[in-house]
Amino acid sequence: MNLSESAKQAGFAAAYLLPVPRYEEWTRRRASGAFAPEADWIEGDPAAAWPWANGLLLLIWPYAPYVSDAGVSGYYPASNESYHAMVALKEALGKEGVRAERAAVPVKSLLVEWGIGARLMSDLIFIPGLGTRFVIQGLMVALPEEELVFTPKRASFEACIHCKRCQNACPGGAIGPEGYEWRRCLRAYEDGSAMPAWVMEKMTCLLGCEVCQDVCPLNHFIRPRPVTEGERSAFDLKKLIAGDIQPALEIIGKNMKKGGKLTAQAAVLAANQKRTDLLPLLEAKAAEAEGPLKDTLNWVISHLKKRE
Ligand code: SF4
Ligand code: SF4
Repeated sequence: MNLSESAKQAGFAAAYLLPVPRYEEWTRRRASGAFAPEADWIEGDPAAAWPWANGLLLLIWPYAPYVSDAGVSGYYPASNESYHAMVALKEALGKEGVRAERAAVPVKSLLVEWGIGARLMSDLIFIPGLGTRFVIQGLMVALPEEELVFTPKRASFEACIHCKRCQNACPGGAIGPEGYEWRRCLRAYEDGSAMPAWVMEKMTCLLGCEVCQDVCPLNHFIRPRPVTEGERSAFDLKKLIAGDIQPALEIIGKNMKKGGKLTAQAAVLAANQKRTDLLPLLEAKAAEAEGPLKDTLNWVISHLKKRE
């Protein structure tokens, strides 16, 4: 079996086979609060979590951002596509007799350790030829010994030119001389319908924050892609606030539904775009909402009323 070829057939641009990793230092840093809660799903001890595995396949899925007026991050559609490609590859490997399971490992740190990518001042990982615009998927695999040909470890390299554009543009002040501080990054607070007021005030797009990637000169060779009519309709703020989220979920994945996240983010973006035309709809939704979503909608309404 040609692993690289199978990965390319599944749609990945590159695949790297690493030994089952060890990262005690990363796990220790996580315990001390160094990473955002999104790192909680990662297994601390891969050898114990997947005792049958003899390799880790890292898969790279590049993407282009949407054009600047799209109002939505291009990462999540790519993440959803790459997830399904990873599942398809896992099944294809299974048919060849190769056991594979999704790897919950710190993929960014492993790319840096292996000299495949470089960590930038913004904490983003840069891969030559791809910039920082890619999704990483991982599979723990059990390969026959003769096919266990690992990607050679390369020397680490520096890519960041320390131009400070990300530092100056970051709406949360998350990037500074001391490095990246996840507690000031908007993305760390966008996983449900409850967001701190300072995050809501600074949110510029649906599903994440694109600012540090947009301004980084290391990404400027990547041409943004236009939004299709279907995508524009799926991410229409009025529809999302009204609860018509199914078309968007088809694009970004069903797990993005949790906690009223999409509705809440659409409402906050409507406030930041001064969409006072949506006030009647927002008030109707707030009247029937409960819990954190109701609080968010009330924040949005009072924000918009100050602008009327
Ligand atoms: S994603 Fe946004 S908030 Fe987070 S570091 Fe980048 S620019 Fe700052
Ligand atoms: S914007 Fe400049 S300082 Fe920030 S990560 Fe990119 S190259 Fe480095």
